[in-house]
Amino acid sequence: MAAEQNTAQDAPTELDALVIGAGFAGMYTLHRLRDKLGLSVQVCEAGSDVGGTWYWNRYPGARCDSESAYYMFTDHLSKEILQEWTWSERYAAQPEILSYLRFVADRMDLRRDIRFDTRVTSAWFDEAAARWVVTTDRGERFAARFLITGVGCLSKPFKPKLPGLENFSGECCHTAEWPRGGIDFSGKRVAVIGTGATAVQVVPEIAPDAAHLYVFQRTPSHDLPGRNFPLDEAAAAQIKGRYDEIWSTARNSFGGFPVPNPQTSALEVSDEERRRRYDAAWEKGGLGFGFGTFGDLLLSKEANDTAVAYFAERIHEIVDDPQVADRLTPKYPFFTKRPPLEHGYYEAFNRANVTLVDVRETPIEAITAAGIRTSDDDFPVDVIILATGFDAMTGTLFDIDIRGRQGLPLKDKWADGPRTYLGLTTAGFPNLFMISGPQSPSVLTNMPVSIEQHVEWIADCIAYLNGQGIDSIEPTP
Ligand code: NAP
Repeated sequence: MAAEQNTAQDAPTELDALVIGAGFAGMYTLHRLRDKLGLSVQVCEAGSDVGGTWYWNRYPGARCDSESAYYMFTDHLSKEILQEWTWSERYAAQPEILSYLRFVADRMDLRRDIRFDTRVTSAWFDEAAARWVVTTDRGERFAARFLITGVGCLSKPFKPKLPGLENFSGECCHTAEWPRGGIDFSGKRVAVIGTGATAVQVVPEIAPDAAHLYVFQRTPSHDLPGRNFPLDEAAAAQIKGRYDEIWSTARNSFGGFPVPNPQTSALEVSDEERRRRYDAAWEKGGLGFGFGTFGDLLLSKEANDTAVAYFAERIHEIVDDPQVADRLTPKYPFFTKRPPLEHGYYEAFNRANVTLVDVRETPIEAITAAGIRTSDDDFPVDVIILATGFDAMTGTLFDIDIRGRQGLPLKDKWADGPRTYLGLTTAGFPNLFMISGPQSPSVLTNMPVSIEQHVEWIADCIAYLNGQGIDSIEPTP
């Protein structure tokens, strides 16, 4: 049931549940609570459409590192939609994922309970009424028994405090705030700061257009070959016939990916056999190099060293200049930072118009009107792209003034770091549920599968409370 328009002067609109965010998490929550439990639910979404991450991140090259065959709502949402929707590539690009989420929103009739262009500014728990009083930047107020956050783990852009950035006379843009009309790089000198999953996607897209591209690297990442390809009709049909198996494997796996957990140690096989497995995973492309080769890459440093050495060798094969290859080679254990998938990232450094600048060797000292100054040189540029990631996990939650019992702000409660029960709830904040919140496995997993697991836990919990006539729930410290 959609809430009527309500402003600050009126009594707040009563709801069973208020959900923040209309990405995968908020959309599925709306469906479970409204369509399965019959609750009154209002979703508030800051963007103008559904999609969350896939609404905001529209930089060139944005694409998912989970294969499209399993980066979608599972059969728990709808078996029909699995058959109705057809992916066009092994890894879907951002516009296609956004189209998919829009399709689901229409197909499940979700939009009527989502208020777009509406940012939740505060949510205070009224102890006497046992209600969350929620206000928005449009002046609306809601009183909801349950408050559920689906705000994403990586939704508040992180912009480092680079001295002098305000003086830069060119264009500066964070990858998560890409202008709708795009950026024309032709003939321009461009700087990309950061070398995480986003930079690894954006660099090969900008390199062919820019007059010169400077990539400012602090820490190299272990970039696995993605090996994307189009899915023809036969491949798409084959995937559609395997969904029962895909979801049951995914739900029983380590990270929500439909791959069996390997049991073999990297140290118990011969050098030739280890090499054969790494080569096969490398040629196949994707995250299987980490998830599907050996069972002890994250348990034994010695086992992990074999993967690190393999990486060094492959990077040196692709990158022509051995010094550049060395700078691009991580010296820390594989899989201890999220390995991005790359499509032409390493090759980009073989272009005459691409330069790698190692800011550990020569730190950025200032941004000038004309460009970037390191301890060693001046790099005049027309555009600076901040591929510097996000204020992860807590950033977006702290931007909302959330207060629990006795008016305690969540920010103060978590001043020394978040404390939660399974990343879902936190003591002193009754009936507040967080989907893939801090301390949950979150982005270390295939998100749609773990989001569904959280939402189902929350929906089951609410159904239990209602069935038992219990007003509220919260964990003990
Ligand atoms: P990120 O992984 O946090 O990378 C940020 C980069 O900026 C790092 O290389 C970081 O260096 C660098 N950086 C930050 N501050 C800096 C400074 N002051 N000077 C120089 N460098 C600086 O962010 P991201 O690439 O946006 O990716 C975040 C997450 O989003 C990924 O892990 C993934 O979960 C998700 N993602 C997924 C996809 C996909 O599925 N295809 C694509 C993009 C993002 P340090 O490493 O030294 O801190």
